[in-house]
Amino acid sequence: MNIINDKVTQYIDELYKPLTPELGQLRREAEEARVPIILRDTEGLLLNIIRMNNPKRILEIGTAVGYSASCFAAVNKETEIITVEYNEETYKTALMNIEKLGFSDNITVYLGDGAEVTEKLYEEGCSPFDLIFIDAAKSHYKRFWEAAVKLAHTGTVIISDNVLMKAMTVSSEYDVYGKHKTNIRKMREYVQYINQLEDCHTCVIPVGDGVAISILTK
Ligand code: SAM
Repeated sequence: MNIINDKVTQYIDELYKPLTPELGQLRREAEEARVPIILRDTEGLLLNIIRMNNPKRILEIGTAVGYSASCFAAVNKETEIITVEYNEETYKTALMNIEKLGFSDNITVYLGDGAEVTEKLYEEGCSPFDLIFIDAAKSHYKRFWEAAVKLAHTGTVIISDNVLMKAMTVSSEYDVYGKHKTNIRKMREYVQYINQLEDCHTCVIPVGDGVAISILTK
């Protein structure tokens, strides 16, 4: 289910302008190939947060074909972006797209599990990130958070995408065939978890498929 309203979504989508013609082309290709990239309204929100916050370093968990990471790079060419993708074919496609768009100097793509790669970066003494975007396997968000938070600092913004899961997080009645029970349970636990943390302000907003924005206070 669309968590907003089909007419509202259509209206907002009609206002959408791609950042560059090349990114517009990559969005079209990804959508045609049914690659799950950030929705248009989510893109608008994220890019304006980046414009307001001006993060120097971004960590993304869930690269897919490199679309969102390339948008982040296009907003600010000084930003250093590390992104992690689990699927090898997808990883190779991301590398190719990022190279083609001219962002290879800004974006480093790692192949592997988002939590494991992030832990390894932490152990290797990687500098902290100003913005962290979690957009990969929904049942693993808590693992991703726990690894990523080690590479955060006071003021780091952590954005989690798809937290409302087409409204299934809100009510299991939207899981019509009962296929998403585990994902629903884990996402509910995750949303509860990030909302009750002491050293963090979180809000959940009904944009795209539900976006949680968390700001670390410690
Ligand atoms: N952020 C991308 C964008 O908007 O262009 C879309 C990411 S897509 C929703 C999720 C991606 O996460 C998929 O490509 C999937 O292969 C990857 N993924 C799934 N599990 C993962 C994991 N454990 N670690 C890293 N990536 C994972």
